[in-house]
Amino acid sequence: MESKEVEFSFSSPPLSSTRWWCRDTVAVVTGANKGIGFALVKRFAELGLTVVLTARDVERGNKAAESLREQGLPNVHFSPLDVSKPASIQTFVSWLDTTFGGLDILVNNAAVSFNEIDENSAEYAETVIKTNFYGAKLLTESLLPLFRFSTSVSRILNISSRLGSINKVRDLKIKATLQNERLSEEQIEEVVNLFLQSVKNGTWQSEGWPKIWTDYSVSKLALNAYSRVLAKRFQGSRLSINCFCPGFTQTSMTRGQGTHTPDEAAEVGARLALLPPHHLPTGRFFLGFGPYNKSKL
Ligand code: NDP
Repeated sequence: MESKEVEFSFSSPPLSSTRWWCRDTVAVVTGANKGIGFALVKRFAELGLTVVLTARDVERGNKAAESLREQGLPNVHFSPLDVSKPASIQTFVSWLDTTFGGLDILVNNAAVSFNEIDENSAEYAETVIKTNFYGAKLLTESLLPLFRFSTSVSRILNISSRLGSINKVRDLKIKATLQNERLSEEQIEEVVNLFLQSVKNGTWQSEGWPKIWTDYSVSKLALNAYSRVLAKRFQGSRLSINCFCPGFTQTSMTRGQGTHTPDEAAEVGARLALLPPHHLPTGRFFLGFGPYNKSKL
């Protein structure tokens, strides 16, 4: 993604006045039974899109979708999806194809972290990488043929984190690899494997990886890098790929701590995901919560 900063103003016209979507516009949100994902589904549904709320747990997912339908949002549909399981991804993609014939918006939101706010452990590094990076990547690759490029510009919004910014990497060789204009998907996976190997060796703390929430940060670093490569792959086509860091938000992941609510984060996320086609960039990282979002990568 480009290093140039881009400002996205909250004083921009209200979403309703830039409406390009309709009832047939399909948005898929992963990990949406709670937190920011749930709030995003709610916001999309309020704005009149058809929304697919996905969750790895059928009971939790069904309950979440039902609660929104009870609030007068019949356009919310539930489908099970565990992004860390390729078979679950396959089943979901077939279901989506059969049920809606495609999609227009994908929000890769599902993620895990096993660290407390002021702790750092890499005990669950494999699960974190498998869910936060490979889960988003595999789902995206499987859904690419189903995007309806024709109706408007299709969009992928990867919910990422500033913890995955390139400036958090202290190893100069890894930094140079990731910053290379010709970065490939294979190289991203090599970096991820290097990290998992250093966790196995017990050397991850001294090897220049991000200092805070290291495994989570590496997963988001890889997600950002993949988003950049994907955006380049689809440059000039009708598919836009961006990342968004919602900032420190009060969810289970932060044990309820944060500077704002999931609904507030979702308002910003929805605005980004629904930017009118002529204002929609690609390959950008939108940061945080405040009067402006800035592209950082
Ligand atoms: P939550 O923990 O509240 O929500 C995470 C969601 O992901 C849950 O619905 C969880 O389901 C789901 N999930 C976890 N693993 C899988 C899986 N294998 N397959 C499908 N779904 C899964 O966290 P947030 O709402 O805070 O996080 C949403 C996104 O925002 C994440 O990408 C996170 O990294 C990002 N983010 C959050 C920040 C914050 O301060 N909260 C800051 C920066 C980024 P289940 O209930 O079953 O566990």
